[in-house]
Order: sequence, then structure tokens, then C-alpha cells
Amino acid sequence: MSPSLPKEIEHIENLANRFSEKIKLRSLAQIEHQAQSMPLYAMEIGCTSANAPCLILTGAIHGVERIGSQIILVYLKSLLKRALWDKRLADTLDNLKILAIPVVNPWGVALKRRSNHNGVDLMRNSPIESQNPSYHLHAGQNFSDKLPWYRGNPLQMEKELQAIDAYINGHIQSSRTCILLDLHSGFGTRDRLWFPFAQNHNPPQHLAHYYMLYHVFRKSYPHYELYQFEPQWHQYTTHGDFWDWQVMKNQDNGKNCFLPLTLELGSWLWVKKNPLQLLQFNQLFHPIKPHRVKRVQRRHSTLLDYFIQVLDSDLVVQLSPLEKQKYQRQALKLWFQ
Ligand SMILES: [Zn+2]
Repeated sequence: MSPSLPKEIEHIENLANRFSEKIKLRSLAQIEHQAQSMPLYAMEIGCTSANAPCLILTGAIHGVERIGSQIILVYLKSLLKRALWDKRLADTLDNLKILAIPVVNPWGVALKRRSNHNGVDLMRNSPIESQNPSYHLHAGQNFSDKLPWYRGNPLQMEKELQAIDAYINGHIQSSRTCILLDLHSGFGTRDRLWFPFAQNHNPPQHLAHYYMLYHVFRKSYPHYELYQFEPQWHQYTTHGDFWDWQVMKNQDNGKNCFLPLTLELGSWLWVKKNPLQLLQFNQLFHPIKPHRVKRVQRRHSTLLDYFIQVLDSDLVVQLSPLEKQKYQRQALKLWFQ
């Protein structure tokens, strides 16, 4: 029996229908597998001018990590409903654009697999070779597509990544500031916010801006101790990280600022609270109990609102050279010593 369309993809279509004046739905590609095809959708909300600040949200690059798609979809629905009566929010949405790709790996979701239908781990598939010698299998491997973390062919990335690369690059290069949040689940018991790099221990070009995002959030929400904010290599290094590759491609492009972040939800906590989840592999990455799904969806809306406010206030652009130096120093001390 062929798998049915994932319900997250139905949610995308329903939401786009319901808010057809506010959401522009684009089909970036059709991903074919065994004579069946699934759409790779992007939703565009807000301002259409090229240099407007931009928030990009991506989920389910790993097919079993569906909670990320659901967080994005629930958040967008709430945002659009609020904008119907909240005039300030409606103005904000006129000033910036939100691009959402809630299901990057539709076949992975449909087949309940981390990889896509070709067995390729889409977060190990980019042409980035880690120089860190002490890596493990999970850093990406080329032995077999039957094992996890299979890299596939980085010189010809999978269709999903090629489509997303082609789509987001124009926006990354034209927006004056672009924050990207890629949602994952499954590592550890804490929610983590990772910035590049995954491939090596070097600070990224926009380190001061990452520090600013961390610092302003902490100051503004002192009781909100939720995220471990750190460079990804603090936990592990990998080959083929798609965001590392995007950063490398865009780092010398002058005036604008591209800040990708990975939100890695600590799903081991859900498992600890509900050990029955251990019985099924794909459930390790997704809370089962409805109240927990709701709670997880709710607790990250503050962070998404925060990114929108940062972009609308142009905090990144307005950072003075002096502040930048200060943040750079503090960041090096906190994360790179
Ligand atoms: Zn993941």
C-alpha cells in the first residue's frame, strides 16, 4: 500500500486556503518515489520587498521529527489570527517577510524515517567536509544507505535540498537581515539553540550578532531559562551540514547578515516521562500525549515572537561598531575558550 499524504502537508494546504489573502503557497518541487509524488511547499507571509528583513522557518528535515512542522504550523495560524485584530502585529507583518517550509522531507515523514526515500540524511548531504578527525558514524557516513546518517552524494545534493537552496538564496542575499530557524527533535533532555559551525570549531563571521540574539533574549526574558545557546560543535561535529554550507556560500556577500539557527528539542525528556515511547522508533522524536504536544507547541512561540521583534526593530542592522566589538569579545570568552 502506498503511504498517504502526511497530515502536516494537509495542514499546510488547509492553512493556505483559509488565509489565502495572507499566505502565498509555492510548490518548490514535486518529490517522486515509486510512481507517487509529494509536494515540497513553501509559504510566504508579509512584505514582498526584496531587502525586507526575513524570518525563515524549516521543519522535518528529518522525517521522524514532525513536532517541528507542527510548531511552525500552529505558530503561523496563531500569528495570522492575531493579526486580524492586533494592529501593531499587522503592521509588523507588513514590514518583514516570513518564509516557512514546514516539511522539508515529505517522504521521510510519510515513510516515518529520519532519512528521505533514498536513505539520505538531508543534514549530512551538503558538500562540506568536517576537518575534525574524531568524528563518529553520526557525523555522516558513506558505507551504506541502510545505516543512519548516510551522506549520499554531496556533489549532487538530493532534490529537496537543491529546491530549497534555489529558493532561499535570493532571499538570503537580498534581505538586510535573515534569521533562519530549523526545528529538530531528539537530542538530549534540554532544548538547545545551535549556531554554526557543525563542521569545525571556528567562530562564524557573524558571531557578534549571535551573541546579541542570545544576550538580548536573556535580558528580556529573565525567567525563561529554556535554551542552551551554543555553537553546534559543542555537542558534536558533522559532515555535510546544510546550514554550514549556506553560511560558507554567503559569508563574503557584504552588507547583509544571515543568521541560521537550529532548535534541537530535547525529546529524551518526553521519553523519560512516558517510557512507552521507547517501543516505537519514530515516537522517540515526537511527544505522544496530547497535553505534551500542546505544551511543546506553546513554549516556543515566545522565541518565534522574539525573532520577529528583533527583525522588525532592525536590531542587527543598528548594532554599532563598538557594540559589535564588545559582543565579539564576550562571545569568544563564553563559547570559544
Ligand atoms: Zn534532526
